Amino acid sequence: MVLSEITASIANAEAAADRPAGSVKLIAVSKVQPEDRVAAVLDQGHRLFGENRVQEAAGRWPAFQERYEDISLHLIGPLQSNKARQAVEMFDAIHTLDRIKLARRFADLAQERGACPELLIQVNTGEEPQKAGILPAETDAFVAEVRAMDLPVTGLMCIPPVEEEASLHFALLAKLAARNDLRELSMGMSADFEKAIAFGATYVRVGSAIFGERPAPQT
Ligand SMILES: *Cc1c(COP(=O)(O)O)cnc(C)c1O
Repeated sequence: MVLSEITASIANAEAAADRPAGSVKLIAVSKVQPEDRVAAVLDQGHRLFGENRVQEAAGRWPAFQERYEDISLHLIGPLQSNKARQAVEMFDAIHTLDRIKLARRFADLAQERGACPELLIQVNTGEEPQKAGILPAETDAFVAEVRAMDLPVTGLMCIPPVEEEASLHFALLAKLAARNDLRELSMGMSADFEKAIAFGATYVRVGSAIFGERPAPQT
């Protein structure tokens, strides 16, 4: 598919869910994609991109930022505490706040810099042992703790288990966000972004449907 088809599908899904046009923001997930494909999407006027690794983003985006204005970069992959400084300097939003230690690091950096990216808390809705994220039952307390640090937390993010019906996870995330007064919901990828929009997604993270299949990871 191409970018215009994805944006049309998003508009249709918004209308079908009785949601205002433009209430869903499309994050084009450019991780591992060749530069020419990323440049093609920039040339079509898209400016919001997602990367899942700090190193990779640092390697490729500065050059694009010299050529294109107003690029917004979101981190959607796990963040090690020792890369937190680099991450807050480079990204406009971080979707993967998943532990108190990282929140404390962000709070220190926010003090020092006088600024902090928008933060979303990753929730492990499927309670998968290998997956990052706060457990659903611990989310309310975690949100309160992070808010007490004066961090700009705006929403929740999830990656549903591959084997399960995504809708259940989208509904759970929406419920957790509503009860904590959080406006942003980062959920939905290439295979299920329309469904996520029906459940209230405000950020969808779409990679392969825009750019094509990712090249096999380098080993
Ligand atoms: C890679 C990735 C995506 C995009 O996945 P596609 O299936 O290519 O759309 C979305 N979210 C996260 C967290 C990812 O790592």
